[in-house]
Amino acid sequence: MTERQAAIDVVLQAAQLCQQVQSDMVTTDSLEKKDRSPVTVADFGVQALICQAIRRSFPNDVIVAEEDSRALRTNLPILERVTRYVEPFVDDVSPQKICEWIDEGQGKVGGRFWTLDPIDGTKGFLRRDQYAVALALVIDGEVELGVLGCPNLSLNLSDPSSPTGCIFAAVRGEGTQMLSLDGQMTQQVHVSNASPRFAESFESAHGDHSAHVQIARQLGIMTPPIRMDSQAKYGLVARGDAAVYLRLPNPATPDYRECIWDHAAGMIVVQEAGGEVTDAGGQRLDLLQGRRMMANRGVVATNGTLHSQVLECIRSVEESMHFN
Ligand code: AMP
Ligand code: MG
Repeated sequence: MTERQAAIDVVLQAAQLCQQVQSDMVTTDSLEKKDRSPVTVADFGVQALICQAIRRSFPNDVIVAEEDSRALRTNLPILERVTRYVEPFVDDVSPQKICEWIDEGQGKVGGRFWTLDPIDGTKGFLRRDQYAVALALVIDGEVELGVLGCPNLSLNLSDPSSPTGCIFAAVRGEGTQMLSLDGQMTQQVHVSNASPRFAESFESAHGDHSAHVQIARQLGIMTPPIRMDSQAKYGLVARGDAAVYLRLPNPATPDYRECIWDHAAGMIVVQEAGGEVTDAGGQRLDLLQGRRMMANRGVVATNGTLHSQVLECIRSVEESMHFN
């Protein structure tokens, strides 16, 4: 699949861009969006870089990406910085082109489209913790390709000497591979039935930590959660570091609907590694509702073996919370 290599190549470049921004980062590199969430020079730079690459290789493809250029057009110092970070990767960059490339991401879902989260886990990025560049190709509602770049994720969590930085790549029907960021290593990854651990967001507002721990106990998982930002959590399930990734709606935001770019790439990475992904009620994730998955509530990813048991535990924990 030529899309696979194109996606890996540009996600590798995006990872370099993020690492460069992270090593130079100054406090003015981050802005606050209307929903009060942060966005950085790197979010804009990665979106410009990747939209530009898709436009060049697949001129007719639609792109649905998280950011738009509105805030940048009125903040010239930041726009200048974004331009500077994209320059090493693309010929003929200008501030105007940066804005145009970013706005290529305003396409509509349906048919064949790409979805991109330029930096998933921006809060983790700002903490110099975990974040991911997440790119997926969706055709007729099915994710056909997912590439997750995780520049701060070690290749092997249990080996402190193992290199940092990996990419997960999955094509429908072809399994999931993990590549090192330096391109030296590629291996097939698979979910595991052996791991006694579960993963959840680092940010407590992005899930229901207290319900998660109850569900885990019912499953017999007594070890503390792996709390991590971004879709790197899907990578943990795909390679067997965690058996389950729980993301129940936070009680403070019960009507929150998940964005497609927060899950499309991670979902195929887990499925092709042998796992299963649904919403908290067991429904398949519907990527054709718009930018948000209006038909779904929460997300659960597992090694597959545990999936129906996890859904049952969710039902029982949610019922007991409802009655208490
Ligand atoms: P994570 O790094 O797993 O905590 O997820 C980061 C993503 O959480 C961001 O990209 C946001 O789109 C998303 N998010 C923001 N608010 C909420 C919320 N109330 N519930 C669930 N996810 C959220
Ligand atoms: Mg995100």
